[in-house]
Amino acid sequence: MAIQDKVIIIMGASSGIGEATAKILANKGAKLVLAARREENLKRIKESLPDASIVYKKADVTNYDDVQRVIDLALTEFGRIDVLFNNAGIMPTAPLIETKRDEWKKMLDINVMGVLNGIAAALPQMVEQGSGHIISTDSVAGHVVYPDSAVYCGTKFAVRAIMEGLRQEQRENNIKSTIISPGAVETELYKTISDKKVGEELHKAQKEWGLSAEDIAQAVAYVIDTPERVSVSDMIIRPTKQEV
Ligand code: NDP
Repeated sequence: MAIQDKVIIIMGASSGIGEATAKILANKGAKLVLAARREENLKRIKESLPDASIVYKKADVTNYDDVQRVIDLALTEFGRIDVLFNNAGIMPTAPLIETKRDEWKKMLDINVMGVLNGIAAALPQMVEQGSGHIISTDSVAGHVVYPDSAVYCGTKFAVRAIMEGLRQEQRENNIKSTIISPGAVETELYKTISDKKVGEELHKAQKEWGLSAEDIAQAVAYVIDTPERVSVSDMIIRPTKQEV
């Protein structure tokens, strides 16, 4: 099926990688369902693409009912779901000794349960259709561990494991499972770090040598556009200058 015929849901579409992906897919003619908590951003994105086929819904990925409503909207508007892009995530990094237990819980809820909620809501429909593709934004942090990022890395290692399990369980049902694993990308993610100084330093580095959100969006569009027999399981995309 060509990309312009696909119904694609993007969770975490209101900025950064999700927004850039929405724009690229819209320009390729896909039918899009956008979701995130900042509804005003979703409205702005839809209005910036007047010729595209886009609906949107405010949703928090930690709330299963919200996620189910997004899936239902896709089915009501477009009658099927070809791709679910689980992209929502936060990265409030800090050393473990700071014991930011609230942030750990939020990260686990959004980065891990958010992905699981998406799978739970979309997978039965895909199995019934006899086809589907679930993509989750993982990270280089899902492949290597580095200081001050133990919990974030833990969430992204978990996403990698879950998505590989999904692949093994659902390959016979013609369902593709992909993780996209970026290195540093210049987005708003640094704002989720509560230590402002650390966040600003990260943002500075991302601006100097990081990837653009469009670089990652192109990779998402590529994996969506592969023939039915091809399933890209993992794509690691680093800035050329990145060390880790
Ligand atoms: P942004 O902060 O720009 O985007 C994050 C997106 O996630 C926003 O649309 C945000 O929407 C959404 N989101 C966060 N919490 C929730 C929630 N509870 N419910 C619904 N949506 C939520 O950063 P990025 O584009 O960088 O992040 C996208 C993904 O990329 C994340 O999973 C991140 O971990 C991953 N990543 C990013 C890298 C980077 O260097 N930037 C590197 C590797 C991976 P809203 O706030 O409106 O709800």
